[in-house]
Amino acid sequence: MHPTTYKAKAYSAISETSPLASTKINRREPTDRDVQIEILFCGICHSDLHSVRNEWSEFMPTNYPIVPGHEIVGRVTKVGSAVTKYKAGDLVAVGCMVDSDRTCPHCKAGLEQFCPNMVLTFNSPDKHLGGVTYGGYSESIVVDEHFVLRLPSNLNPAGAAPLLCAGITTYSPMHHWGVGKGQKVGVVGLGGLGHMAVKFAHALGAHVIVFSTSPNKKEDALRFGADEVVLSRNADEMQKHGGSFDFILDAVSADHDINAYINLLGVDGNLTLVGAPAEPLRVPAFGLIPRRRSLSGSMIGGIAETQEMLDFCGKHNISADVEVIPIQKVNEAYERLLKSDVKYRFSIDMASLKSE
Ligand code: NAP
Ligand code: ZN
Repeated sequence: MHPTTYKAKAYSAISETSPLASTKINRREPTDRDVQIEILFCGICHSDLHSVRNEWSEFMPTNYPIVPGHEIVGRVTKVGSAVTKYKAGDLVAVGCMVDSDRTCPHCKAGLEQFCPNMVLTFNSPDKHLGGVTYGGYSESIVVDEHFVLRLPSNLNPAGAAPLLCAGITTYSPMHHWGVGKGQKVGVVGLGGLGHMAVKFAHALGAHVIVFSTSPNKKEDALRFGADEVVLSRNADEMQKHGGSFDFILDAVSADHDINAYINLLGVDGNLTLVGAPAEPLRVPAFGLIPRRRSLSGSMIGGIAETQEMLDFCGKHNISADVEVIPIQKVNEAYERLLKSDVKYRFSIDMASLKSE
């Protein structure tokens, strides 16, 4: 039986060529283990844009209408009778996942993101209401308490929202690959993910070098903790660093030459892709073989690791640099993302939905 529902204001797109526009969606009334959250801020991730425009149609086709948004910060308004971790009034957060089976080996290892039954915050089958899940460009959301995170009280909610995707997606691979003191770490692309990667790598004690196509981002990169900034379109500057990196995180959203970065890795160096352009990559075997280099990917992070990341951010006072916008500017913000014109994450003030 379907639970009872209520209407919530939201922004959705009805096709891959439509702009996002005001709508109303159904949300379930909280069941026993659910937490109902009034959304205060939602970050705009480039994945929202890839999904709205169906750019990943081959791997993750978009179901319309789509309500994107998976960088959610809000206040608890109601909890189900079996909820133990949260109560009305708590400041909480929700990231890219809202459910998983909790029984598979990945879930048991705290890697819910790899669970075969993982449910994404938007565009995944919704077992409660049918259809697909709707994300954070909305006035409220209802989520199983296991997928709700606690926000450290010293973090500003608008700047903390992007931690739920840009934060965990860059924190997790750095932990996995042991980024720390004495290491030379590269970050490619100073957007939402990239600027968080710089902050984390710096906080972990690495020597951090940013690769950017935007000369006007240099001062900001240094402020975020970069030790050097290289303009990636300058071949001489790139060559200087050949064969010298321990770890490079590639957070670029569009097609680009990844071999230029593989060539910068030293012996046993690793390049991890978090950026997800739709186009396939061409990598020569001899880019990897001679120095035992490796190329890998990484997807967000598990729930326990996400809480660990938020607590790390609370302790080190780390949050995203955001441009707060009303929801009515969301389509304009998408166009600016495509021009790399973002400093460094848009965070939507959901109070702006009230006037819709
Ligand atoms: P974003 O804010 O738009 O940043 C992307 C940055 O890439 C831009 O600011 C720009 O940095 C650089 N860039 C853009 N076009 C480029 C081009 N043609 N050539 C070279 N560099 C270019 O995007 P984001 O939200 O950080 O997301 C980045 C990517 O990560 C997206 O593909 C997104 O879908 C993906 N993602 C993956 C995961 C995961 O779990 N793996 C999670 C979230 C997002 P400069 O101006 O410094 O060059
Ligand atoms: Zn994201």
